[in-house]
Amino acid sequence: AVSVAGLEKNFGRLKVLKGVDFSATPGSVSSIIGASGSGKSTLLRCMNLLERPDRGLLRIAGEEISFDPTARGGRPRLIESQVARLRRKVAMVFQQFALWPHLTVLGNVIEAPIHVHGVPRHEARDRAMAYLERVGMAEKHGEYPNFLSGGQQQRVGIARALASEPQVLLFDEPTSALDPELVGEVLNVIRDLAEEGRTMILVTHEMSFAREVSSQVAFLHKGQVEEIGSPKDVFEAPGSDRCRQFLSSVM
Ligand code: ATP
Ligand code: MG
Repeated sequence: AVSVAGLEKNFGRLKVLKGVDFSATPGSVSSIIGASGSGKSTLLRCMNLLERPDRGLLRIAGEEISFDPTARGGRPRLIESQVARLRRKVAMVFQQFALWPHLTVLGNVIEAPIHVHGVPRHEARDRAMAYLERVGMAEKHGEYPNFLSGGQQQRVGIARALASEPQVLLFDEPTSALDPELVGEVLNVIRDLAEEGRTMILVTHEMSFAREVSSQVAFLHKGQVEEIGSPKDVFEAPGSDRCRQFLSSVM
């Protein structure tokens, strides 16, 4: 369902992704771990084209896009319809929730289905309520985000991502902005989704959670996948010294 090959991304002269190879099978849960600045968010943001890769191949949810800076025209040409299709099939949950403050909980969840996917309002509303039910937030559908706890806001963020019925769900440190006592309620929701066999890619600092829910774990170091394998292999017997050092510094 997801594969990236030789993916490169620069910000000006800063090389952030230096040829990332990574793939995930349909229905699998992958965790991406690594030090701050190693490029985890950038990799995730390239996968839904919030950032535009400089080079490499991106295959996700049936779309295949190749980036080649030497191609005619200099810069990789992105076909807008392809970008739009890809974005419709991939949803992201952000560290800082990124809810619209001027919309209610329900308003946040029906926004994309109505305006991006063209779902009729009544149908979007029914679906949204079902997703809010799933994350335990249906009762708060009329509330504004600022009146909710961080854990509640993030559960709305997850309902909003689900409402697009994506083929691939991306999570960028979904619990790291939360007070410790609120982390569990969000991890419980993510665990349920993982058990449903959804294709998910999760950037996280929650090592024990990553170990529990993932089919594979990738350790990113300075813009490259330095180690990838089963959670057991990566956490118990990493082949790379850097990975071992990283794990001992965070666990
Ligand atoms: P963290 O664990 O702190 O979230 P990360 O692994 O997600 O780190 P990235 O956010 O991908 O790391 O950033 C990798 C590098 O790219 C950093 O040096 C960062 O400063 C730089 N960077 C990220 N986004 C941009 C941007 N839009 N413009 C310039 N530099 C950027
Ligand atoms: Mg990050």
